[in-house]
Amino acid sequence: MHIIDKIYINGQFVTPHGSEVLDLVNPTTGRVDGQVRLGDVEDARRAVAAAKAAFPAFSRSSKAERGAILQRLHDAVLARAEQATAALVEEYGGPVNTSAGRSQYTAAMFLDVRTVMQQHEFTRTIGVSKVVLEPMGVVGVITPWNSSAWFVANKVAAAIAAGCTVVVKPSELSARQNQILAEAIHEAKLPPGVVNIVNGRGDVVGAELSVHPDVTKISFTGSTPVGKTIARLGVDSMKRIALELGGKSANVILDDADFERAIPNAVAACFMNNGQACIAGTRLLVPEHRLEEVKLLAKMAAEAVLVGDPRDPAVALGPIVTQKQYERVQGYIAKGIEEGAELVTGGLGKPPGLEAGHFVKPTVFACVTPHMTIAREEIFGPVLSILTYRSEEEAIAMANDTPYGLQAYVSSTDLARANRVAEQLVAGRVHINGIHWDLNAPFGGFKQSGIGREFGPYGLDSYLETKAILGETAQYR
Ligand code: NAD
Repeated sequence: MHIIDKIYINGQFVTPHGSEVLDLVNPTTGRVDGQVRLGDVEDARRAVAAAKAAFPAFSRSSKAERGAILQRLHDAVLARAEQATAALVEEYGGPVNTSAGRSQYTAAMFLDVRTVMQQHEFTRTIGVSKVVLEPMGVVGVITPWNSSAWFVANKVAAAIAAGCTVVVKPSELSARQNQILAEAIHEAKLPPGVVNIVNGRGDVVGAELSVHPDVTKISFTGSTPVGKTIARLGVDSMKRIALELGGKSANVILDDADFERAIPNAVAACFMNNGQACIAGTRLLVPEHRLEEVKLLAKMAAEAVLVGDPRDPAVALGPIVTQKQYERVQGYIAKGIEEGAELVTGGLGKPPGLEAGHFVKPTVFACVTPHMTIAREEIFGPVLSILTYRSEEEAIAMANDTPYGLQAYVSSTDLARANRVAEQLVAGRVHINGIHWDLNAPFGGFKQSGIGREFGPYGLDSYLETKAILGETAQYR
């Protein structure tokens, strides 16, 4: 049993004022294997007070001081990579191989951000005026359960690089991952109060951070409905808001693509992270006259995916995080069948032999039309919808026919053509021929997938206020 009964405030692990205890269920076994004691509004306020007190000195720290902190954070997080991987695997069923990669780049993030900070111009001359970029203040970080520590690390690293102080409210389902991160932060000897971590419910601790007048910015990753709530809660104190929200990303396979490669890639782009990825390519758009071939390739790829215990390195698809989410995914599969989509493989129920955990069969639907529920709503499970188009223009229109705009994927053997299509897709990131990772490229959503950009210089800028000083430059004298 993992018992997490402390929160991290002002450089110390303290007992929360809140007394509610939440059971942590292992999604692979369905059994309770941990408990977390949740903080309350009082704890959120204590953490904000600590971050506020730490801000004046930290906001004046030098690049060199913050760079040294980021280096120490990297070292401490890396030293715990194995522990963090085990937590990822047990807490939400992330397959061990991908979870290990994630733990590595959670650590690497701190060094990447350090490099970005070192190259960043915090003082610029624009025309005849001086422009100074100043840290915003106390940042509230609110994150989801999928790959939680990675999201927290990304936001904390950028906030520190900017000179901000932070209160983190991670998902209550990711307490273990974030406990490990808190231990790394403690070992890295940050000035007390620079980073605080408070476990708690979203509508309690998260909501308090979102309304608190001493919190300048909320950086949120999670669902679109909760993002909207946070934006509403923050409006009275005019919070700066960064929202990384849901998606229904299109994967456009052009008729000249290498189908043998593109379709298995598309299945992987939908099933990544057990289908629980905001960037999952859940809508596969293919030329109508190639549908039969696509169905066969997608069926073969989906049926080759090994579902099972995520501790097994051969397993590519683990369970869904909670029973509630499992039921939600089953509801979408039922809806797909009911609305007349063709079930190519997978379907309702659990794969044989995996009845104890929250396992879903890798599922592919064909003949999905743009108005069906499974083509419109974020499912957050391994369910791929195949839609057909007749022309490139129609493919682009269908890809953009969604309230979301987080990512998109295009496959073609003609790069100029792929690029032409990419430029017309309404999404924050477009991947050509596969999924690519670049921790410095801006990341964020168009439309209801969010506001703002993370990563690299764009991410760093989002933690800085812009001040123009006029009359100080040589031109005025
Ligand atoms: P969620 O929106 O339910 O919860 C996210 C966080 O918000 C949690 O910490 C939760 O406790 C908190 N929260 C809930 N209600 C709140 C309130 N009223 N006030 C303040 N905070 C509140 O999301 P989830 O189920 O944890 O994660 C899945 C969702 O996250 C999916 O929609 C997915 O697309 C999205 N997501 C987006 C990205 C991205 O970068 N765009 C990345 C990962 C996940």
